Amino acid sequence: DEAEWAQFDDADLSDDENAPVPQPVLAVVGRPNVGKSTLVNRLLGRREAVVQDTPGVTRDRVAYDALWNGRRFTVVDTGGWEPDAKGLQAAVAAQAEMAMSTADAILLVVDAQVGATATEEAVARVLRRSKRPVLVAANKVDDERAMAEAHALWSLGLGEPMPVSGLHGRGSGDLLDKILAVFPDVPHEEFGKTGGPRRVALVGKPNVGKSSLLNRLTGELRAVVDDVAGTTVDPVDSLVELDGEVWRFVDTAGLRKRVKTASGTEYYASLRTKAAIEAAEVAIVLVDASQPLTEQDLRVFTMVVEAGRALVIAYNKWDLVDEDRRHQLDKEIDRELVRVRWAERVNVSALTGRAVGKLAPTLRTALNSWDTRIPTGQLNSWLSDLVAAHPPPVRGGKQPKILFATQAHSRPPTVVLFTTGFLEAGYRRFLERKLRDTFGFVGSPVRISVRVRE
Ligand code: GDP
Ligand code: GDP
Repeated sequence: DEAEWAQFDDADLSDDENAPVPQPVLAVVGRPNVGKSTLVNRLLGRREAVVQDTPGVTRDRVAYDALWNGRRFTVVDTGGWEPDAKGLQAAVAAQAEMAMSTADAILLVVDAQVGATATEEAVARVLRRSKRPVLVAANKVDDERAMAEAHALWSLGLGEPMPVSGLHGRGSGDLLDKILAVFPDVPHEEFGKTGGPRRVALVGKPNVGKSSLLNRLTGELRAVVDDVAGTTVDPVDSLVELDGEVWRFVDTAGLRKRVKTASGTEYYASLRTKAAIEAAEVAIVLVDASQPLTEQDLRVFTMVVEAGRALVIAYNKWDLVDEDRRHQLDKEIDRELVRVRWAERVNVSALTGRAVGKLAPTLRTALNSWDTRIPTGQLNSWLSDLVAAHPPPVRGGKQPKILFATQAHSRPPTVVLFTTGFLEAGYRRFLERKLRDTFGFVGSPVRISVRVRE
């Protein structure tokens, strides 16, 4: 297994251990049979069926997407976390510990008909230490008569018990409101969806043919006037129609005016490139196919990856590429462009117009990948299969356990793994590679970050 993932060491990954998780996580804890699965199903609106638990068998899906009042969050059923723990009380306490360190809020489900047992009391003692908000669901309160049983659960010392019936749905709306209310206000990290034309940066080092390509795109195809329905055009941008769709090429004023580089402006040019990439959703990185790739080209790729933008690679001046050069080029691509091997390449000529029609479909593919959101259930069933076959490498005598994953956001797709220990960079790259094998993400960077429980 090690050999299989070790080969991806040359790939690129962000290493931020404390990446924000814009989609908050609710962990559901409680004894078996109190109705956790039933209640989780209810909270999910049954959009994702919870797999029936077989005693002693780890559930293969533990995390699910929920949506209430327009807010998304993740519900984690902790039942499958500690199948080996000795004794019920220890198992549920371990669940609670785990929940406290990974979730943004915790829901303790109690069977109100049974009342608080020694197990609930032990768990409550653990949860009272929690810095995260804790809610108590008094489940199986199927009718008004059972309300007194719910009130009895005040004794747990965790605040007001919320009476619910997972089976009949009673009280579940109030519970969902309460859950949203206790979540921390998480900043919305996603790139603003403007609804206007998609924003493209046309970048590359000087003389690769950016102006020529822009002229070709705006000249031969219809240049779009500034008052296209519902859009206001920043004068530094160009609206261009490609393949029946209007695109906003950002920060093209310099290209249009053909302000040519005087000496000492390389630094300035690099700032402009960076700004254009930041302003865009997808970048077309233009390289001169007739010349060997240089450090300066590679820096532009790095900027795109670091900014987390979708990427299309355009090899320009293809009219100058002969058989020999082509051979060299293949080797160059293998050697130099491993970090962006997920990006599609188009071989174009701004001079002859060769293959410029391929740009729009390639941009669309990249943006679709960039926008992709994998449902949490699907992500976790993929992950549990993968981790079963290739467990994370042991570190310091301990095997880190991956509890669950969520795609925290898209644009670019960012997956957060919740683990019990540090995951080596090589293993994370292996996961990224496998993620791409399954879900594609052609043309988009993908980020994997790890949230280790304290
Ligand atoms: P879990 O082991 O905590 O996940 O519990 P389950 O969701 O599997 O439920 C255990 C049993 O309690 C099942 O027979 C459910 O039908 C039943 N149950 C769950 N919620 C309710 C409820 O609100 N009222 C009643 N009367 N029964 C419930
Ligand atoms: P920029 O600095 O990236 O904007 O590059 P320009 O568009 O100014 O092009 C630099 C030089 O390359 C000019 O002399 C262009 O005529 C030439 N050029 C651009 N595209 C092509 C192409 O596809 N084929 C060939 N042969 N020359 C090109």
